[in-house]
Amino acid sequence: MTTHEHDVTIVGAGTAGCYAAATMAHEGYDVVIVERKDEDEAGHIACGDALKGASNFPESIPRSQIEPAFTNTDVDHGRFEIPAEDTVLEIPIPGELAVIDRWEYGRRLIEGATDAGAELHYDTVVKDVVQDDDGRVTGLTAVRKGDPVEYESELVIDAAGSLSLLQDKADLDDATFDTNVQYSQFCSAYREIVEVDEPVEWDDALVFKPTERAAGYLWYFPRTSTEINVGLGFQMNEEPMELVESLKRDLRNRPEFDGATVEDKLGAALPTRRPYDSAVAPGFMAVGDAAGHVNPTTGGGIAGAAYAGQYAGEQAIEAIEDDDVSESKLWRYNERVMDHYGSRYAALDVYNIFSTAYDVDDLMAMLAALPVKPLSEALYSGSAEVGLLLKLKTAIKSFGHWGTIYDLYQTKSLADELLDHYESYPSSPAQFDAWRKRRDELMDDIYAVTGAEPKY
Ligand SMILES: Cc1cc2nc3c(=O)[nH]c(=O)nc-3n(C[C@H](O)[C@H](O)[C@H](O)COP(=O)(O)OP(=O)(O)OC[C@H]3O[C@@H](n4cnc5c(N)ncnc54)[C@H](O)[C@@H]3O)c2cc1C
Repeated sequence: MTTHEHDVTIVGAGTAGCYAAATMAHEGYDVVIVERKDEDEAGHIACGDALKGASNFPESIPRSQIEPAFTNTDVDHGRFEIPAEDTVLEIPIPGELAVIDRWEYGRRLIEGATDAGAELHYDTVVKDVVQDDDGRVTGLTAVRKGDPVEYESELVIDAAGSLSLLQDKADLDDATFDTNVQYSQFCSAYREIVEVDEPVEWDDALVFKPTERAAGYLWYFPRTSTEINVGLGFQMNEEPMELVESLKRDLRNRPEFDGATVEDKLGAALPTRRPYDSAVAPGFMAVGDAAGHVNPTTGGGIAGAAYAGQYAGEQAIEAIEDDDVSESKLWRYNERVMDHYGSRYAALDVYNIFSTAYDVDDLMAMLAALPVKPLSEALYSGSAEVGLLLKLKTAIKSFGHWGTIYDLYQTKSLADELLDHYESYPSSPAQFDAWRKRRDELMDDIYAVTGAEPKY
């Protein structure tokens, strides 16, 4: 059997793995990325292709390297179609937004990691995690084109995406690592890249629409005015949906897709849950989808994956320098994730939980009844105070939905309390149990107010 020795072994050449690798390789560390796909297919990832906030992405892969994959930078608002209410809501989206050619972006990320000095082993499927007698992760076993291979390293970074096999294989029961992970906290999604004959009218918008069935939405994201990423997903705690058939039915009813051709099809699971409470164990860190670093209300995970990669890479360097890969040493990585976006995603997850307890048609009717545009403008302008006139307009327009609005208001208060608690995420594993106990109490209040089934 071939054995490879590196400072760090990373599993997965997606966004998280490439940023982690580039961060360490730039500083001269010996890093390998192990990727199951072949060189041509690597970087080909199921995605809606909407990229938010790339102007601030970590610099280990220069923006100039990924920018050529940004095919539509004119998108500036969301267009919410609510057919049951015969309503279309147009809501501005602040900040930089692009729809991208995702495969090209994926290839450019890999190029960024290898330019920085990382090694890439394609066609290599990780099969198991190796741990020493104390439970520390020391390496991996894999298969490359039928032959067994082994990896030994100071640290393993799990960037293998949703429902990572590594976490099924490793025994992490004695670590703080979050093992409360179930299928029902994920969304099953499918997308096609469709070429249409005539430019669509909404090429400056991300278009959303509820699916025929509860707890899902369809999207139409224009890569260009004639190349559209269309897709849909459903929460895996619901009855499974026939994704391909549902999408076909919807496309058939949209005249702009008459005579369209499908260029590419892919499906995958994505986490629609809070970030892992802890994504470290001795010798081991998980990043990106493998640690639930996705905005659970939008499914946007590219930005979280990029930053998780950077933070894990920087923490790996510190750990190697101090010859200490214990959980305490790696803990700072958890803190940085929570500090940057993890706390916010955990609070947003509360709205996901809220939505599972209400009928989707009622929620859509409520949304259609709210003066969403001025409300969102008031919020984006940074004014916490909503003017009296707007309050009055809201009250009049939303008559008939006040019960749901009141429940939502109560839920928001609890989400704010949860956010406060996440902002005091512990600075070492020693206070972790107490922090988690209080968090679980807050979650119990949230389940009680929303009437939702416990998600965790
Ligand atoms: C349908 C869909 C639509 C989405 N839309 C958007 C969107 O519009 N915007 C957005 O920001 N996010 C979106 N997301 C989420 C986004 O794609 C992910 O959050 C992001 O790709 C996560 O990056 P990652 O590096 O953590 O994992 P991935 O990109 O999934 O990379 C994981 C890599 O690990 C490899 N791998 C897995 N197992 C093994 C193994 N055993 N051995 C070796 N290699 C392995 C895989 O081949 C893959 O290359 C969407 C997701 C889906 C499924």
